[in-house]
Amino acid sequence: MKRFFIFLITVTIALFAFPFTGCVKDEAIGRSFYDIKAVYDDTAHTLKCSMNVSYVNNSDAILDELCFHLYPNAYRKDAQFKAVEESVREVAYPHGESEGRIDVESVKRNGKDNEWSIEGMDDDILVVALTKEIEPTERVALDIDFTVYIPEVRHRLGWVGDTVNLGNWYPIACVKTQSGFDTSPYYSNGDPFYSDCSDYKLTLTAPSAYTVAMPGKSERRENGVNVTYVSVLENARDYAFVIGKFDTLSTKVNGVDINYYYLKDSDAENTLACAKDAIAFFSDKFGAYPYSTYNVVETQFVYGGMEYPSLVYISDTLNKSMCKEAVIHETAHQWWYGVVGNDQINHAWMDEGLAEYSTTLFYEFNPSYNVTYRQRMADAMSAYIVYCDVTSYDGIMERNIGEFSAFDYTYVTYLKGALMFDAVRKTVGDEAFFRSLKNYKKEYSFKIASVQGLINTFENTTGRQLKNVFDSFLYGEAKIYR
Ligand SMILES: [Zn+2]
Repeated sequence: MKRFFIFLITVTIALFAFPFTGCVKDEAIGRSFYDIKAVYDDTAHTLKCSMNVSYVNNSDAILDELCFHLYPNAYRKDAQFKAVEESVREVAYPHGESEGRIDVESVKRNGKDNEWSIEGMDDDILVVALTKEIEPTERVALDIDFTVYIPEVRHRLGWVGDTVNLGNWYPIACVKTQSGFDTSPYYSNGDPFYSDCSDYKLTLTAPSAYTVAMPGKSERRENGVNVTYVSVLENARDYAFVIGKFDTLSTKVNGVDINYYYLKDSDAENTLACAKDAIAFFSDKFGAYPYSTYNVVETQFVYGGMEYPSLVYISDTLNKSMCKEAVIHETAHQWWYGVVGNDQINHAWMDEGLAEYSTTLFYEFNPSYNVTYRQRMADAMSAYIVYCDVTSYDGIMERNIGEFSAFDYTYVTYLKGALMFDAVRKTVGDEAFFRSLKNYKKEYSFKIASVQGLINTFENTTGRQLKNVFDSFLYGEAKIYR
């Protein structure tokens, strides 16, 4: 995610930009497959869905139940963990708080009703009992019917006017860890999502007045007053799309189709060019972009932007420089969060710190954008020192996002995270640093990297002991920068 805010202290005004974010081989080895049919009702603002999920047991345990996140329930009025953080509520809800939710209507296995329940800390987990257990590598197919009630809000899931953001909208399998399924709730801080890569096929019917921005390969089929879109996305960590009345521009780089769906951007050609430059640069520095399309969508969104595989949101409220910054940051997330996954609940710095630092790298190697590496890092350091002066936070980066305030979260994961990667680069030198990033991407493509895994990759690549450098940031007090 990309966050922007103004930090005012004494006579210094510091403005810092923070990001917040073919035919499916349905038996692809080791990947679950979500085949979803959905109908959008633009009067009721609902999405009525039938989902067939072919879930594969990638753990080494025998499973007698499956768990799925029901993130739309965080938009309920009585939700304990609210999707929309307090400080942005007034801006996010254009007409006062608006409720959203997901109603699960049935769960079937082999055409017969299967036992299920709604559980979790906040009625946000669908638990499906498996009368016949599944062994490691075994699959189970479930048919889940559900309806998403979309709130009126400028958020990941929400409609405003003719624009509808569909992020984190369907039941998505919880990651199975050594200690069980990760059933973390929807914290209003950060991007509280954590998922394995899967294959997706969405067949969406919507009124023909709309254009739909979808990830992966998609095609549009006219059907009278309605239009049906079919989209396929393989080996992706999530699936989000946006319905709206967009203008579109397209280009291509390194074989990747880049599409820009925009509402009112007066500088759309340059925004598209920025997305193209970012895909080209990050592909060169980190390794090839894996999807056939990259879709940038200007939409109604309370933060700067939001990342999903093959598709990102960019807020329609940004000025030109902020818009470019958001595009670069969210594009970096295609690698850090998307291709290389991490537990964003407990190690949010892994993708946010690296996406923020990657944004600075983009500016360093693309001088026509008129932002220098030296100035950005100097700004980051000054901001961090000011932050240390006015807060009592201990600076520890390694903690659950629910334990941060929104303010601390931003400084510690984005800013201190970026400073950490700058320090590692200075320690090992440019050649070894960039080789480490390439190896990190290669080693963890479509997997979930652990903190130790990231450090190991850097140590193995460089032949240097780096744990102390990382640990001094991850666990060190903020005051080490004084
Ligand atoms: Zn981000």
